[in-house]
Amino acid sequence: MDFEISKEHKLTIEVVRSFAEKEFKPEIARKYDREERFPWEIHRKAAQQGFVRPHWREEYGGQGADFITTVLVVEELCRADSTLGQAIHTAQFGSELINMYGNEEQKRKYLPKIASGEWTSSGAATEPARGSDITMLDTTAQRNGNYYIINGRKTFISNAPISQFAVVLCQTNPQLKHRGQSLIIVERGTPGYETTTLHGKLGIRASETGELIFNNVKVPVENLVGQENQGFYYFLNFLNLGRVEVSAEALGMAQGALERALSYAKERVCFGQKIINFQVWQHRLVDAATQLEAARLLVYRAAYYVDKYRNQPRIPPEVTSMVSMAKIFTTRTAIHVIDEALQVFGGYGYFEEFDIERRYRDIRITDIYEGTTEINRNIVASYLIGK
Ligand SMILES: Cc1cc2nc3c(=O)[nH]c(=O)nc-3n(C[C@H](O)[C@H](O)[C@H](O)COP(=O)(O)OP(=O)(O)OC[C@H]3O[C@@H](n4cnc5c(N)ncnc54)[C@H](O)[C@@H]3O)c2cc1C
Repeated sequence: MDFEISKEHKLTIEVVRSFAEKEFKPEIARKYDREERFPWEIHRKAAQQGFVRPHWREEYGGQGADFITTVLVVEELCRADSTLGQAIHTAQFGSELINMYGNEEQKRKYLPKIASGEWTSSGAATEPARGSDITMLDTTAQRNGNYYIINGRKTFISNAPISQFAVVLCQTNPQLKHRGQSLIIVERGTPGYETTTLHGKLGIRASETGELIFNNVKVPVENLVGQENQGFYYFLNFLNLGRVEVSAEALGMAQGALERALSYAKERVCFGQKIINFQVWQHRLVDAATQLEAARLLVYRAAYYVDKYRNQPRIPPEVTSMVSMAKIFTTRTAIHVIDEALQVFGGYGYFEEFDIERRYRDIRITDIYEGTTEINRNIVASYLIGK
């Protein structure tokens, strides 16, 4: 057992930290948040530094690093700024499915452009009537000779308005329910494929969200990812990585909030003394720091095991359960820690000046996307009960 962070990982943290200190200006983050726009320029700079999927192999634009490196990058980006960090991290969503299950040609075509920041992508499972339960889908892909004809609609899709392609979970055989689903790559510009933008999110507003609409979209069979009718299983495996990454987002956002609260508490004077001198605040901040440290151990451990099994056909159920535990604990803890941090700032925390209100809004999604806390509890329960 080794709890030491390696030299390489420490270096990764330092590099991301110095990049974020230079590039993540609060006024820039507020602007993208206000305008609900993706920060292309900063994203491309981050990608040039190798912050997009460092665990991908070098021939696909990665650095051949381990998955823990990716997790540390996500944590550090979100620690520096919740809005910019989350948007930059999420820009590649769905591409991991190609890295995990795509063929050589697909990997060479799509992954380098994602890693370089030139393109962004979407991964689409959720539909208007199907979110937590995707065991049956309304979006269908019917085989017709060398093509699939796709019809349906996906909603709440990250990067929908700006992604060059989407990896779409479709029902290829409705009789087989989840055993009859497949992943198909659909490129922007394909006739019949349209995207919309959904406005008015509570937080993560620099990550653009929208719908994908498929109206008799004709896609060559070469765009099938992996085997036909295996898509549901691929998607569940992929969520193991995604859930650890969302946990890292939450960890970073909360860590950054705690640090800001600590410095504010050392400055703000009430009743003739600094807030930090009130024992109640010392204890509340200690509790927050302790809870985050516990969350960090869960996240790093889950990342370690996911890294170990991610190239195998199936990630073992004990690892999936570990991942869900990490996401449940970390996201709920982070929501609480940011709430505590905001309280330290009093009324100032309620305004945008100290960027705590933005973190307070941004953190909330981590408990919802890539499986709500309730769904993750169901996963752990199945494992514990032995279903
Ligand atoms: C900003 C944003 C970005 C997103 N990005 C993507 C994306 O890129 N790709 C994608 O495919 N999806 C994406 N999603 C969708 C997200 O994953 C879903 O919103 C989420 O899985 C929940 O589905 P739902 O919204 O339909 O809620 P529902 O499934 O309708 O659930 C409603 C409530 O019921 C609870 N519930 C449901 N079933 C159970 C049960 N069995 N036991 C106990 N409680 C239950 C849920 O936990 C939740 O609290 C995104 C969502 C948002 C908001």
